[in-house]
Amino acid sequence: MNVLQVSAEIFPLLKTGGLADVAGALPGALQSVDCQVRVVLPGFPAILADLTDVHVLAELSAPWGEPLRVLYGRLKTLGVNAYLIDLPHLYHRPGSPYEDAWRHPYADNHRRFALLGWVAALLAHGLDGHWQPQVVHSHDWHAGLTPAYMAFMHHQSMRVATVFTVHNLAYQGVFSPASFYELGLPHSAFGVNGVEFYGQVSFMKAGLYYADHITTVSPTYAREIQTPAQGCGFDGLLRTRASALSGILNAVDDAVWNPATDPHVTDRFDADNTAGKARCKAALQADLGLSVQADAPLFGVVSRLTDQKGLHLVLRALDAILSRGGQLVLLGTGEAHLEALFKARAAQYPHAVSVRIGYDEAYAHRIFSATDVTLVPSQFEPCGLTQMYGLKYGSLPLVHRVGGLADTVVDCSLENLADGRANGFVFDDFSQQALERAIARAFALYARKSEWDAVRAHGMRQDLGWQGAARQYAALYQHLCA
Ligand code: ADP
Repeated sequence: MNVLQVSAEIFPLLKTGGLADVAGALPGALQSVDCQVRVVLPGFPAILADLTDVHVLAELSAPWGEPLRVLYGRLKTLGVNAYLIDLPHLYHRPGSPYEDAWRHPYADNHRRFALLGWVAALLAHGLDGHWQPQVVHSHDWHAGLTPAYMAFMHHQSMRVATVFTVHNLAYQGVFSPASFYELGLPHSAFGVNGVEFYGQVSFMKAGLYYADHITTVSPTYAREIQTPAQGCGFDGLLRTRASALSGILNAVDDAVWNPATDPHVTDRFDADNTAGKARCKAALQADLGLSVQADAPLFGVVSRLTDQKGLHLVLRALDAILSRGGQLVLLGTGEAHLEALFKARAAQYPHAVSVRIGYDEAYAHRIFSATDVTLVPSQFEPCGLTQMYGLKYGSLPLVHRVGGLADTVVDCSLENLADGRANGFVFDDFSQQALERAIARAFALYARKSEWDAVRAHGMRQDLGWQGAARQYAALYQHLCA
């Protein structure tokens, strides 16, 4: 089965969030279940620099008339064959792939990401005479136009199936109606049965409307997005497409996230020997100027600082952590007001709170290795990866029961503890009080060392690998091609 994966990011070359982790892990995982995967990506400098054995596959003219090249080669870091869109003035920009230094989305984002979908569609329709995908699997709004372009490219010799995966419905790729006329889609596509969304163009809607099948990254989120509360305006469309919508839970790339082999952590450890974890904690406390106390529960946050992540609740509940003798370490970047508020709390409690504003992959690994609890109180969370990294690294997740958090974390209630199923702490109401009660439960369990150790060992031993998800994707591809 030949599968073309379409995404804007890919770990470890370019990452702003979980999308990159998934795009980086999926090709290898799918290969192990007999799928031959190639990827198509924008030619961002960090991705281009990794491409070896490069040749020019095609020289084309974009739908708005601009010349571009499609390169083919092999991404040496990932060991994956790749097509890159080479158009430097669209992709060679410092910083975020999506926005400028003032955090404003680039004004030409509709062109930058329309090209991704357009080139993917051309590849589906024979652009590479040596390789024909049977399935085109595109991810998030950046790649959302792929199935729309494919729907309007005729003269195809074979039917190519389309899968569109929603990693976060809140980012919808919405552009002015004027931008539609640059995309090269027929007029008929600008309507309710097409890419139009409340008078504008939405690349996310294009994916949701035209793909043969929609997946999202957890079964619970697949249900939630069909409700007005979580549908972000798409719930009606998603309900009409319910029979073509399913959730496949994300997983963890064991080659990247494994405390027994991790090159970024102070000391390595596993479920049978957690002495290294205690040393990771002491070293991090010392490096950050926190009180070096083995018995002070250390809470960690590694997150984009956006409203979605519920971190204002952490700010409000911080006293509940500190008054019980706990500590907090945070790594994140995002909205200025959240950055400022967390920095102010760190200045107030330098021996108990550490805040680093920025993006730092290696430091994120150190935080999971050192902390006792990983906080993920998101208001909504399509899947969430950090709670799973917490599980792998013996940092018990404390989460709001929503989306993929609900599908991966089992609360330490008495019955779950008795059944040996518990692996973290879950709260239901999205409120400071509910978060504080969950924090209190975490402290209570922490005081019962043998029970804490048993819960932690269970979490660390869980199979969170990609094999299961890869088998589900492969079964879906087979079904769509049958
Ligand atoms: P989202 O995709 O909504 O940001 P996920 O939990 O799915 O949330 O994925 C977040 C990914 O980004 C994880 O790999 C996490 O470790 C990483 N991450 C988030 N913020 C930072 C940061 N400031 N520095 C390093 N890694 C980060």
